[in-house]
Amino acid sequence: MSRIVHLNGAYLPEQDAKVSIFDRGYVFADGVYEVTAVIDGKLVDFEPHVQRLERSLRELAMAWPCSKDELREVHQELARRNNVTEGVVYMQVTRGVAERDFAFPKDVPSTLMAFTQHKSLLDSPHAANGVKVISVPDIRWKRRDIKSIALLPQCIGKQQAAEAGAFEGWMVEDGLVTEGTSSTAYIVRDGRVITRPLSQAILPGVTRKSLIRLATEERVVVEERPFTLEEAYAADEAFLTSASTFVMPIVAIDGRAIGSGKPGPVATSLRKIYLDAARS
Ligand code: PLP
Repeated sequence: MSRIVHLNGAYLPEQDAKVSIFDRGYVFADGVYEVTAVIDGKLVDFEPHVQRLERSLRELAMAWPCSKDELREVHQELARRNNVTEGVVYMQVTRGVAERDFAFPKDVPSTLMAFTQHKSLLDSPHAANGVKVISVPDIRWKRRDIKSIALLPQCIGKQQAAEAGAFEGWMVEDGLVTEGTSSTAYIVRDGRVITRPLSQAILPGVTRKSLIRLATEERVVVEERPFTLEEAYAADEAFLTSASTFVMPIVAIDGRAIGSGKPGPVATSLRKIYLDAARS
């Protein structure tokens, strides 16, 4: 059965949703996106996703395609129409259809597209067993704080990880881990969680934001500072976060076992804390 997707105010069977070849998303990757998890049929952390979208649009001087309330309605309606009780809603805004010219066109409506994916997020064997990551060079642009749809460097990193039998690539720049190709990176040392501070070098993860708040409430110390790959190899634990993986324990980096080589107690407990809060 075909999905119902959303395009510029209309709900359509996926095969009927058509975008012009002149849309700047297609020609220049001139667009931004968000991925929101759905658990128990409800959106997780939707408000901070909207806030980050607002920021991405502002930084690129791109027009809102609809109101924030309408955007929430689109997400809820797509989950409902596609019977998604567990999965994700993907949405993107592109600058719209214009004659090909590098400079931004004037008075062009932006394009809103959104679709759902059914995914088993909660009972993940990855979460139970932990995942492997490899390091890859960070070859991205310098405005990684904007959630741009231009993801080729991350696709290359993820492909390298897949070919190495790993779940994720941790991108490294000047010896320091920036983040995963589609996730935020953390290590644990002596019970303290260490993650890179926000800057233009990384995406401000929505899951990161919630997790830091929840961890602090539980009196887990979170140190926001850069860490090296060497430090990660020697860490007691490592884990990653993203909207669709929540908190995912890491058991090996570049083939070296981290800690006991099993999901660590801090990552395991933070996953539970995050999921309890998301479902409450
Ligand atoms: N960092 C990058 C580069 C990402 O692409 C993502 C998610 O796609 C994240 C971090 C995690 O962000 P979030 O927790 O908002 O999903």
